[in-house]
Amino acid sequence: MHTGLFTHRACSAHEMGDWHPECPARLAAIQDQLIASGIAPFLVEHEAPVASEVELLRAHDAAYVQELQARIPERGYVALDPDTTMNPVTWDAALRAAGAVVAATDEVIAGRLTNAFCAVRPPGHHARRAHAMGFCFINNVAVGARHALVHHGLERVAVIDFDVHHGNGTEDIFAGDEQVLMCSFFQHPFYPYSGTEHPAQNMLNVPLAAGTRGDVVRKLVDEQWVPRLDAFRPQMLFISAGFDAHREDDMGQLALVEADYAYITARLMQVAAAHANGRIVSTLEGGYNLSALGRSVAAHLKVLAEL
Ligand SMILES: [Zn+2]
Repeated sequence: MHTGLFTHRACSAHEMGDWHPECPARLAAIQDQLIASGIAPFLVEHEAPVASEVELLRAHDAAYVQELQARIPERGYVALDPDTTMNPVTWDAALRAAGAVVAATDEVIAGRLTNAFCAVRPPGHHARRAHAMGFCFINNVAVGARHALVHHGLERVAVIDFDVHHGNGTEDIFAGDEQVLMCSFFQHPFYPYSGTEHPAQNMLNVPLAAGTRGDVVRKLVDEQWVPRLDAFRPQMLFISAGFDAHREDDMGQLALVEADYAYITARLMQVAAAHANGRIVSTLEGGYNLSALGRSVAAHLKVLAEL
C-alpha cells in the first residue's frame, strides 16, 4: 500500500500577481499541513517530469498548444483572460502539472503505487481543448486520463470532479467519449455557468444551490455517483480535487468540511477497490482559503493512504 505525492518547484514559481487567489502559497499550505498532521512521512514523494507534446495533444489542439508557447513572456505577465495570466515560468509549471498526472498514472498502473495525489498548479479543469480560462492552461486530469486510455490501453476510466466550479474544460474534452464517465457536482448558477444544459450521456453533472451542505453532497455521492460508477466499472479513477466547496472558502458558497472530503474519498476508494484494483490518481484543482485547503487535502490524503 503506497500513496504517491507528485509535485515540482516550478509549480510554486508560476504566479499571476500578488492579488491573485490562485497563488504559490496554496502549495506551501498543503505541504505545511501534511507535515503538521504527520501524513508526510507516509507518502512516496516524486518530482514531476514535464509532459510531452504527444501527451498534451491527446487533450488539446496543436494550434492551441503552439499559441500558448508563443505567448510566454520573457518577463512580466501576459493575460489570456482577466483571471488567467502567464509569467515566464508558467509554461514549465503547466508542463510539470500535466506531467505529474501522467507520471502518477504510470506508477499506479505499474503497481508501484496504489494511488497518488498531484500537488500541482496551475490547475486544469477549466482548460478546454483549445481555450485557456479560469486560472487553467492545460487540462491536467484530461491529459492523465487519455494517457491511461491511449498509452496504457485501458478501456474505461472515470473522472470525478468535486471542485465548487463546473469542470467545463474537462467536459469539453470528454463529452461523448464512451471510454470516459465524468461525475461532478458544482454550485449553480455560478462560474463558468455551464454543465446544466443538455450534457452528453457520459456526463453526470449535479448542480447544487448555494449553501448546500455536506449531508446533501454525501447523499448525491451515494445515490447518484456510486451507482453510475458501479455500472460503468472504471478501470481507473481520476479525481479533479478542488477544495473550494469548503465552508470557509470565499470563492464559492457551498458548505463542505474536511469530513465530507474524507467521506467522498472513502466512497471513491470503495469504487476503485471493486473495479479498478484500487487505482486512483487525484490532482489539485481549486481551494483558496489556505487553512481550509491544507486541512482538506490532509483529510483526502489520510483516506487515500489509509492512515
Ligand atoms: Zn474551483
